[in-house]
Amino acid sequence: MERVDCVVVGAGVVGLAIARRLARAGREVVILEAADAIGTSTSSRNSEVIHAGIYYPTGSLRARLCVAGRDALYAFCREHGVAHSRIGKLIVATEDAQLPRLDAIRAQAAANGVDDLRAITAAEAMAMEPALRCVGALLSPSTGIIDSHGLMLALQGDAEEAGAMLALLSPLERTHRTSDGFELEVGGAEPMRIACSTLVNAAGLSAWAVARGLEGFPTDHTPPRVLAKGNYYALGQGRSPFSRLVYPVPVEGGLGVHLTLDLAGQARFGPDVEWLAPEAYDRIDYAVDPRRADAFYGEVRRYWPGLPDGALVPAYAGVRPKLSGPGQPQADFLIQGPEAHGLPGLVNLFGIESPGLTSCLAIADAVTARLA
Ligand SMILES: Cc1cc2nc3c(=O)[nH]c(=O)nc-3n(C[C@H](O)[C@H](O)[C@H](O)COP(=O)(O)OP(=O)(O)OC[C@H]3O[C@@H](n4cnc5c(N)ncnc54)[C@H](O)[C@@H]3O)c2cc1C
Repeated sequence: MERVDCVVVGAGVVGLAIARRLARAGREVVILEAADAIGTSTSSRNSEVIHAGIYYPTGSLRARLCVAGRDALYAFCREHGVAHSRIGKLIVATEDAQLPRLDAIRAQAAANGVDDLRAITAAEAMAMEPALRCVGALLSPSTGIIDSHGLMLALQGDAEEAGAMLALLSPLERTHRTSDGFELEVGGAEPMRIACSTLVNAAGLSAWAVARGLEGFPTDHTPPRVLAKGNYYALGQGRSPFSRLVYPVPVEGGLGVHLTLDLAGQARFGPDVEWLAPEAYDRIDYAVDPRRADAFYGEVRRYWPGLPDGALVPAYAGVRPKLSGPGQPQADFLIQGPEAHGLPGLVNLFGIESPGLTSCLAIADAVTARLA
């Protein structure tokens, strides 16, 4: 049986960032990935926005790791040549009744250490973005966009340079506890067993299954699993009339149907919030239903009245691994170390939805701290 120091389960952006961090600290690391490539799950099904850290409850992991992660990510992108652009974002109120929400968002951002958010008048916003209609706005200059796949390749490259090894098509199936760590049963075409002293569960949507497959893991430490699909639509024809990201004031479960741009300047709208039924959790259908676009027209036209009829075409969808459901307060990230569950050498990551991409480098630091 192979024996290694650390195993990281999952080669999404978070698992890769953790593997990089551990390998650069001199640890021996193997990354187990069930799929045949890195980043094929949530890490390639998101808005690719570098969030500023505006909305999250002050002091929460999401707030702290987003602000720290954002700065670390911009620096990482510059150093590693990862394509990104600090294009900025407008948060817009489209009716007078929403104006107090803008004030509340600005206060929340300031409390989170996001000190560059600026209130601007509707006229200023509409001068910046002539296609926009709003009654007031906030400008976030430190919001940006990133090539998420380029980021993951750079993280993988750094991790491998520091000695980490990536094993694709290697799903972790079961974990047994041993006197000095864990023994892992890995499936796939060439099943194997690996012993390790440190195990990091960064399996995203499957983090719950990985925890449940761990012999002796206290079941009361597995949080509730709630999945919410987010559907995106693109403009079928024509270029985006906007040069910045445009977000309405947030809605329950998400940030509202916003307009994001990719690095090629293509616009996409979404994600919406489609709560999945528990029966669908283990056979996720990522297809985007063209009929859901009907609701998007109304949402988008609140801030872009010029959206032509029939312009929206289904693009792609992602699924948020959440810890709270409809009507509940938004849960925080859960980074669960030995201090919480009592098993030395184990860290589970649950509920790493947005802003997990922005926060990946800071999450890696937090995981290392839990293992110290
Ligand atoms: C609709 C949507 C929009 C978002 N927009 C943004 C955004 O704009 N900005 C932002 O910062 N964040 C955003 N996020 C959040 C961000 O995408 C995630 O937080 C991040 O991608 C999570 O990465 P991860 O590595 O934890 O999970 P994943 O990318 O899901 O990776 C987990 C990996 O584990 C592997 N795996 C699973 N089970 C096993 C097993 N048993 N054995 C081995 N491997 C296994 C999977 O194959 C997968 O590759 C968004 C999320 C969604 C859903």
